[in-house]
This record gives sequence, structure tokens and C-alpha cells, in this order.
Amino acid sequence: MSQTYRSTRSSSPDTISFEEAIIQGLATDGGLFIPPVIPQVSTETLFSQWSKLSFQDLAFEIMKLYISSKEIPHEDLRKLISKSYSTFRSEKVTPVVEKLVEGENINILELFHGPTYAFKDVALQFVGNLFEYFLTRHNAASENKKQITVVGATSGDTGSAAIYGLRGKKDISVFILYPTGRISPIQEQQMTTVEDSNVQTLSVKGTFDNCQDIVKAIFADKEFNTKHNVGAVNSINWARILAQITYYFYSFFQLNSTGSSSKKIKFVVPSGNFGDILAGYFAKKMGLPIEKLIIATNENDILDRFLKSGTYERSDDVKVTLSPAMDILISSNFERLLWYLARENLAADINNKDEEAGKILNGWFTELKTKGKFTVDPKIIKSALVDFDSESVSNAETIETIKSFYEKSSNHYVLDPHTAVGVTVAYKEKAKCNDSQGLEYICLSTAHPAKFADAVNKALSGFTAYSFEKDVLPEELAKLATLPKKLKFIEKADIKLVETAIEEELAKMEL
Ligand SMILES: *Cc1c(COP(=O)(O)O)cnc(C)c1O
Repeated sequence: MSQTYRSTRSSSPDTISFEEAIIQGLATDGGLFIPPVIPQVSTETLFSQWSKLSFQDLAFEIMKLYISSKEIPHEDLRKLISKSYSTFRSEKVTPVVEKLVEGENINILELFHGPTYAFKDVALQFVGNLFEYFLTRHNAASENKKQITVVGATSGDTGSAAIYGLRGKKDISVFILYPTGRISPIQEQQMTTVEDSNVQTLSVKGTFDNCQDIVKAIFADKEFNTKHNVGAVNSINWARILAQITYYFYSFFQLNSTGSSSKKIKFVVPSGNFGDILAGYFAKKMGLPIEKLIIATNENDILDRFLKSGTYERSDDVKVTLSPAMDILISSNFERLLWYLARENLAADINNKDEEAGKILNGWFTELKTKGKFTVDPKIIKSALVDFDSESVSNAETIETIKSFYEKSSNHYVLDPHTAVGVTVAYKEKAKCNDSQGLEYICLSTAHPAKFADAVNKALSGFTAYSFEKDVLPEELAKLATLPKKLKFIEKADIKLVETAIEEELAKMEL
């Protein structure tokens, strides 16, 4: 069983523990942590046991394969899981809404029933509790009390999921920078109305890139970093991927609980940093008989171009789209998939396969850094296409899908623009593949439509019966507009100003 971790770029046989992988986040060689061996689950176990479990029990069965009970005793792991999903509004945590359009095989997996109405809650609610668990245990056993100062930048959506994951946690403070006036009102309300004293938002006069540069500079500032133990909960943390594996199994069982081979399932996943769909890859490799994982990208289509050409190449500029949480230049978690593909394609007589794969990855990513691109052997693409397919979607298509789905679905279902990118790809895939009998699509819905009012209203305001306030906006989100805001304004995008603000606020927090 694989319960130790290694870096995707390492050519050494050394491995580290789960706790080290989580607390460290990113490896010192620039690589990402992965379990070199993916645990296997038998068909018998899947369909005579796992298919009957609740979301929480399933999460436990999956996570205990990746975390040694010597690191987290099973009883503690169960408690962490139960606490993390008690904040969700749906009893099923991630329910599937089946067959919204009569006669069509499109199903929607709703991942937005967590506290911030976005799929990132599924992972970040768990990660927050996990950080607190490790810190509390460390501090109980050591004279040397450890506290973590989490610092992050957001262009809107991720900040609130991080804040809600870490609010009120012992020995952790969280500072989120965002560009003043450049995030949506609802996003700002979600972040700034959290009252917990360990949370502080910093509204920085500047762009998102300015905010991100400041965060990078803070991480690079050794003195500040050592003094305050600066940490991150970004999308490359292994615990986030791990927590997301559960909903692939859970939703699969909702549509096919017996493992019947006449009911095939394709997942369509709106993708940016490749964290969400990578969890699906782990589910498939563990033994869940998923027919295909389909990558849906917006106009920032590095993944789609790679699968079609074999060249991984960053574009010069990020395109601003209607699905901003997928506006990326590089898809950070994709590196993890590349490691498994590289390893699987090594010659059979190579002994140290893990180390060899690390060397190959190191070569590719050095090339990416120096030349802005690298090209892989066609056999790598061939193996990727066994599990994956991909398509990209334009803004116009996104709007059109929100509109047409509203028109033809029962109860006028409203898709958020990210989900609409996925649903568009499902229709493209249907047209391309001539669906066989019994095939079902599960489209992952990554955000509640109320979070992206502009795109949704652009698509639907032409329908006379449509009202955003009545049909889309949940009461809980509407109420945020009336609450007091807690934010600190930083009048210039300057690292010193931000560091000073963090130190002032930390002194007041009395962690
Ligand atoms: C983060 C996010 C995505 C992209 O997920 P990745 O794991 O980065 O591929 C898609 N939709 C929404 C709403 C998101 O917040």
C-alpha cells in the first residue's frame, strides 16, 4: 500500500510521510508530491461494499488507503471527515441531479453545496481541519509552539473557500489579498463578512497579478517567512486532490451501483489547474470502471492543445473569459499526471522507475522554464488518450449553453458558466462519439450560478419569466450584502506595506 510520498521531479529513492507532504505543500525541487503507487480496490469490494456507503464513509475508506493509521489513527480520520462535511447544506454532500433534459443522458454532479457555494469547499473544508489537527498535535507534544500564517492572493473565487476552510482554526491565521474593485460584489462580500479574528482580507490597489507577485515576494522573504511561518493552501496541495476522489466514486455509484458493464459513465470536468479531474484519474486507476474523463477548457486551452499536439506550451497572455476560475496559463496539477504517464512508458527492464520518471519530468519542466514549451513522445499522448479526451469552449458557446439548457431542462435549470463549459463539451463529445446504448455523462458542476451573476444574466435576461433574485440567488448569499465588512485597504501594491499590515493584524489577533 502506498502511504508515502515523493516529488515528481526527484531522482532520489527517498520518500516522505503524508504529514510532511501536506505541511510542505510544494517540494523543494519545485515538484509536486505524489503517491508513487496508487492503491487498488477490487471490483468485489467496490460493488458489494463501497457502493452502499454514505459520502463520509466512502471518504474514510478512500483516505485510509493513502494515510497510514500510524500517522492519523482511523478514529481521528473519521472525526476529521465528519467535521469537514457537516458544513454542507446537502445530506448527500455532492448529489447528482439526474436526467434534467428528457431523453438525454446528461447528469449534473453538484459540487457547490459547501459554505462558499463552490467545489473548492469539498477539499478546503477538509484541508483546514487537517492543518489544525497536525498543528494541535505538534503543539501538545512540543515546547516549541508552531503557528502558521497562511497568505494567498485571489482573483475572486478561491479566496473565500480558503477563508471558510481556515476560519476559527487554532494556531492558524489567514490573509487573503485581492485587487480592489476587480472582484465581483458577491465575492467581496463572501470574504469580508467573516467575523473570526484569525481572518483578514487585504484589499490591494492594483491588479490580481500585483497581488500574486506580492504573495510570491512574501514567500521569498526569508526573514519574514521564518518569523511568521508563512504557509499556503493552494491548488497543488495533495490533500486537496485526495479529498476530491470521493465524489467520483460516490456519483458513479448513484448511477451504477451494481457495476453493470452495460451502463458506462463518462465524466466531463471544467478544468483549470487540473486538480478536480486529476482526482478522477486516481479513482479510475484505483479500479472504478470509468469509461472516460473528459477535460473541458475555456479559451485558455493549454491542456486541449497538448492532448492534440503532444506539445505543452504556455501562451503569452491569459485570456479573460466568462469562466474566470479556469483562466490559467499553466495547469499546475497536470505535472502529476505526466509523472504517471512517464513512468508507465519506461522500458520494462528499467529498475528504478520512480527515479527515472523524476528525471524525465525534471527535464520537461526545465525546458518549459527556458523555452516556454516541451514536446513528449507520441506514446505518452497515446496512453493519456486511454483515460482522457478533451475539448475547448468559447465564451459565445458558454452563453449559448446556459441559454439552451435553461430552455429545455425541467424546472429551468441554471448552469454557472464553468459548468456550462463542461456541458458544452458533453454535447460535443456526444456528437463526436455516437453514444452507445446505456452511456451516461456526469458533468461536474463546480459553482453555484449566483456566484457568476454577470454571465448568467447575460445569457438569461432575455427570458421574461427569468429573475436572478427569485430564481438564482440563495437567501444566504443575498443576506451578505447587509453585513458589515472587515477589510484592510492597502493603498499601493507594495510588499512592505502588505508585510506591515500583516504584522499589525497578527499582533491584534492574539492566536
Ligand atoms: C477552481 C475552479 C475550477 C477549476 O478546477 P481545477 O481543479 O483548477 O481544474 C472550475 N470551476 C470553478 C468554479 C472553480 O472554482
